[in-house]
Amino acid sequence: MNQYQKIAELIFPGGIETETILKKYPPRKLSQGQEVTRFAPSPTGYMHIGNFFPAFISYTLAKQSGGIFYLRLEDTDSKREIKEAKDVIYQILERFDIFPDEYQTLDGQDIGDYGPYIQSQRAEIYRAFAKKLVAEGKAFPCFCRKTEGKDDVLKSRQGKFEEDDEKEYDPCRNLSYEEVKAHIDNGEKFAIRLKTQNDGSQRVKFFDLIKGEIEAKANSKDFVLLKNDGIPPYAFAHAVDDTLMGTTIVVRGEEYISSTPMHIELFYVFFFKPICYCHNPLIWKIDGEGKRKISKRKDKEADMRFYLQEGYPKEAVLEYLLNLINSGFELWRKENPDKSWRDYHFGIKDITTVAPVFDIVKLSDISKNIIAKISGKNLFQMWLEWAREFDKPLAQKLEQDSEKFVKLCSMEREDSPKPRKDIYNLKMMQEYFSYAFERPKLDFIEDKQNFVDFIQAYLKSFNMPKSNEEWFQNIKQIAGENGYALDNKLYKQNPEAYKGNVAKACLYARQAITGKDNGPSLFYIIDALGKEETLQRLELAVKI
Ligand code: GLU
Repeated sequence: MNQYQKIAELIFPGGIETETILKKYPPRKLSQGQEVTRFAPSPTGYMHIGNFFPAFISYTLAKQSGGIFYLRLEDTDSKREIKEAKDVIYQILERFDIFPDEYQTLDGQDIGDYGPYIQSQRAEIYRAFAKKLVAEGKAFPCFCRKTEGKDDVLKSRQGKFEEDDEKEYDPCRNLSYEEVKAHIDNGEKFAIRLKTQNDGSQRVKFFDLIKGEIEAKANSKDFVLLKNDGIPPYAFAHAVDDTLMGTTIVVRGEEYISSTPMHIELFYVFFFKPICYCHNPLIWKIDGEGKRKISKRKDKEADMRFYLQEGYPKEAVLEYLLNLINSGFELWRKENPDKSWRDYHFGIKDITTVAPVFDIVKLSDISKNIIAKISGKNLFQMWLEWAREFDKPLAQKLEQDSEKFVKLCSMEREDSPKPRKDIYNLKMMQEYFSYAFERPKLDFIEDKQNFVDFIQAYLKSFNMPKSNEEWFQNIKQIAGENGYALDNKLYKQNPEAYKGNVAKACLYARQAITGKDNGPSLFYIIDALGKEETLQRLELAVKI
């Protein structure tokens, strides 16, 4: 045994061999073009749109290629309760129809042959690979500082290294077996650091599938592979896991580009096949005159739960993200209005290289078009389910009066050649249908006299209409008899001769019944509210 092997055995006695592990994780049998991608969230109890974005790209690339998309929980940096964090991640994926092929179930069962799919359960694997590097003299135990967490590592670095910008060699990198033994005998904890092969003068080139070739300064830091609790930080864990689990493309945010030279060195020292990286641009937001990255602290839209709380249909959110990934989606959608977004295929080359800017108006626009195609019954059902989750008192009201609300949700939708597009999420529906919950306040009416006169006349000759046409004929007749112009041309030529046109008369009726200036044809609203309620509203309106 040489000096390195002796150190490796001293600090990590026994344990599983890397060869044995590699046999347990054979290369996946893939056909030409099949991709294996993954979502590797850290459990924060929150899902940022900036994390969901690469997850969605990964999922789509795998599914389009007939490949595998798996979920790996990267919980090595977290002291958080794993269950709670798992719940948020699983909930968001499920609610947006992103179903991984391989993952660990909520009750801890691994689905797939490449698990465990939770990093904290892979400690013996990381230990074996770290031990191998120590035995080869490519890594070493470090006793000289606290290395429990990233911050500690950084803080403890300050002032410890020689004043040398180029390289950050650790003072423990050349300890002899005897020196290591003395520390161990002393009961000291240790971290494992990479003994970088570079001195700061080298450069590396790597190929990014979106951005092309990138050249950067090679890593020259003895960075931490295992913290002193045996848990690896991201760089080491991801190199080992993405290799063992057979990932073919790592899609991750471009904030990882600057640390990629560290990752490249790890693949190199392990003789692992280099992985294909695909660094997606981050999502930005307009802020005043400028723009900035969408932020968890400042923007409610950064949290994926926001879209559930506001009641945006999942398809709207996914289609909006497809728009951000590739602007060609919009044209495809126009040409294929009835296809599922799943039929839209994009290649890595189609992924935007320009930072996409988040725009809620655009999302709402997409959402309006999607909601316009939903049947009244289904829209009511979606609204009810949403209310059961986010607004229980509303859910009760919807349940108690479901027939009325189904009618309202169906207005100018199914039968209409041009369905209305004014609902963009489920949260806005209560306000949109406010007249279905309470009688309108009419304090906003300005020309009270004309309003009251017309409503009185309308009330007198009110007939419960059986069709939209019948309703319109009825109100037209009443308008004509009460000094309103039936012909808009005549009205325009001589407005003083009339109290207004038919549109004005219809507006009064709409205001009296709904308190609103516009909306679907009043016939449908009257039909949903019923004769008695409509008459009562008209009676109240003449008393303002
Ligand atoms: N755990 C890392 C994160 O949540 C994963 C990055 C990656 O996808 O490799 O940012």
